[in-house]
Amino acid sequence: MHFYIMTLFPEMVMQGLNTSITGRAIQKGLLSVEAVNIRDYAFNKHNSVDDYPYGGGAGMLMQAEPVYQAYQAVIEKVNDCRRSVQADGAGPKEAGRSPRVIYLSPQGETFSQGIAEELAKEEELIFLCGHYEGIDERVLEEIVTDYVSVGDYVLTGGELPAMIMVDAISRLVPGVLHNDVSAEFESFQDNLLEYPQYSRPEVWHGKRVPEVLLSGHHANVEKWRRKQSVIRTAKLRPDLLRKAELTEEERAIAEDIEGQQNGQI
Ligand code: SAM
Repeated sequence: MHFYIMTLFPEMVMQGLNTSITGRAIQKGLLSVEAVNIRDYAFNKHNSVDDYPYGGGAGMLMQAEPVYQAYQAVIEKVNDCRRSVQADGAGPKEAGRSPRVIYLSPQGETFSQGIAEELAKEEELIFLCGHYEGIDERVLEEIVTDYVSVGDYVLTGGELPAMIMVDAISRLVPGVLHNDVSAEFESFQDNLLEYPQYSRPEVWHGKRVPEVLLSGHHANVEKWRRKQSVIRTAKLRPDLLRKAELTEEERAIAEDIEGQQNGQI
């Protein structure tokens, strides 16, 4: 999986993503992350890439041309990479297809595990990080395929959202997590949150680890975990539960908890 991040702050995204699990995956060659500095494509002697918005209003806007030139440079890199894969005989899955370009924007579709799963199927992804008041609409119309937000709040730039997305997508790339970890149940799978987890010691601050987890009885552990997932989701994210497939017994547990919580309000 190849990630290209178009940004005014390449060092910010590279420092973050070269760390920990994504950093190790980059070293192993499972991922590549390249930050492309939009400022390198400034077309004036002051190296500036922003200007006042037509019609007035507060703040500055990133101009269309440097963003477009940076995009063309990324497409060149993608094509070089595809050619080298072809020369190795491996052959890219979809030669010639333009990569998806994701503009990080508070106006986009809210990022979710489902979107991460869909994007993890791509060979390459290009992220476009805005700054200041955003980017001239005309270049967005020309190059962007997806608008994605990380939530209903406004940040100063798209760098943190791009890092969030690369992190969540990378975990789904085969080999990035140990196989036993990636096969495990995680929050949002089946529209349920993960059950509570415990590690050593067995007793901490007078609180014991639930007995069933020490029993070594795998089926009982799984049953307990599933029930805890239902309880936790009913308490914290009842909206998710409405989309989950539950048994009659689980539905009754969830309704009971929701009823108690509504009564408390
Ligand atoms: N004026 C824009 C608006 O009201 O929609 C907000 C611009 S914001 C200050 C600057 C940049 O930060 C955006 O172009 C976008 O790339 C990024 N950004 C801010 N909030 C974001 C969010 N919630 N999700 C994704 N990107 C965001």
